[in-house]
Amino acid sequence: MTNPIGELKPPNRLMMTPGPSSIDPRVYRALATQLVGHMDPWFRGCMDETQTLLRQIFQTENRVTFPLSASGSGGIEAAVLNSLEPGDEAICCVNGTFSERMYVIAQHTPATVHIVQAPYGKPVDPEDVRKVAKGRKIKMIGLAQGETSSGVLTEIDPFRKVADEFGSLLVVDTVASLAAVPLHVDKQRIDICFSGSQKAISAPPGMSPITVSPRAEEAFRNRKSKVQSWYFDLSTAMNYWGKDRLYHHTPPISLIYALREAMRIVLEEGLEARWAKHKLNQHALISGVEALDLKLLVENPKDRLATVTAVMIPSGVNDLKFRNQLLDEFNIEIAGGLGPLKDKIWRLGLMGYCSQKPFVLQLLAAMEKSLSDQGHRVSPGAGVGAALGVYIKAETPALAAH
Ligand SMILES: *Cc1c(COP(=O)(O)O)cnc(C)c1O
Repeated sequence: MTNPIGELKPPNRLMMTPGPSSIDPRVYRALATQLVGHMDPWFRGCMDETQTLLRQIFQTENRVTFPLSASGSGGIEAAVLNSLEPGDEAICCVNGTFSERMYVIAQHTPATVHIVQAPYGKPVDPEDVRKVAKGRKIKMIGLAQGETSSGVLTEIDPFRKVADEFGSLLVVDTVASLAAVPLHVDKQRIDICFSGSQKAISAPPGMSPITVSPRAEEAFRNRKSKVQSWYFDLSTAMNYWGKDRLYHHTPPISLIYALREAMRIVLEEGLEARWAKHKLNQHALISGVEALDLKLLVENPKDRLATVTAVMIPSGVNDLKFRNQLLDEFNIEIAGGLGPLKDKIWRLGLMGYCSQKPFVLQLLAAMEKSLSDQGHRVSPGAGVGAALGVYIKAETPALAAH
């Protein structure tokens, strides 16, 4: 009898979204290698290697550095729940859906949580955080380096300065930015930093790399109350990821293989080269998008996050129809807006494996065709041509100097 439910055959999409990104064939191969047990002596070596790679990507020597068995939101949850207990006060910097998620999660704790906001499309002003902190004892200041809902980059150092003035732990969400945007956890003295496996690292979703400074570890030891989660209590999780390797929970072993391989690719390329590549590809994409007569949400170029470009949907163009055409005709997935930006923007992701010249050109060509079919016309080849101009300039040293 044939099974009415057929063999799994997903479409072959190019995922130019703010996550998950498409992944390198090497990562698929790692994912498909044979399983071992999570207590197997061989797997211990694999865990060590995974942690060594992660420390390099985070640019840290923190002992507590490992992938949580959770998506990026689990990283937020772990960072916040371990930092806060009754009587504490915290400040969350909110400029979009994902930084707001940290605020929402912090409100699940018994701590008093203050919010400091910026409009979508702009970073929070550290001076506003200083004003709210004044006269208070602030245990934690949280922010997102890359706000994925709007494509905004926040400079971390001014917030470290404020955190120093008030003796606060600095918690930074790098889910959308790690391995794409400059980050030095130790040099920038970030206390808790976490990310997601499926964005610029380009591994499958399901893991949240996290790293904890010795100062934050001490704050955890000084807690008077238990962390409000057993699963995400970072001290007990470290019994497994630390030198004792005691059973805590069964980690997603195959995902750890995949993450390990994806990180090897990141480091083969080199962090600096990878940061530069993300910047160049976004420059090319932006030139192309502007040549398509589209406007960007983030006005100030220095606030633009290299992994996510938010483009205003032009009037007369139907959001869903446009995105469905990209899927059906070109096998390309992009994302729409979230919350107040729904129906207003498209979010074009250039994360990790997807941050490549051929994909940028493919996306621009597909966008041009789909826009034109809805009556938004530009001179043929304008988008691809403008992007190519950026690449030619960057690849020609004599021109790049200008
Ligand atoms: C994607 C994302 C998250 C949430 O990650 P999930 O894996 O969807 O749970 C959190 N923060 C930022 C900045 C993100 O981009």
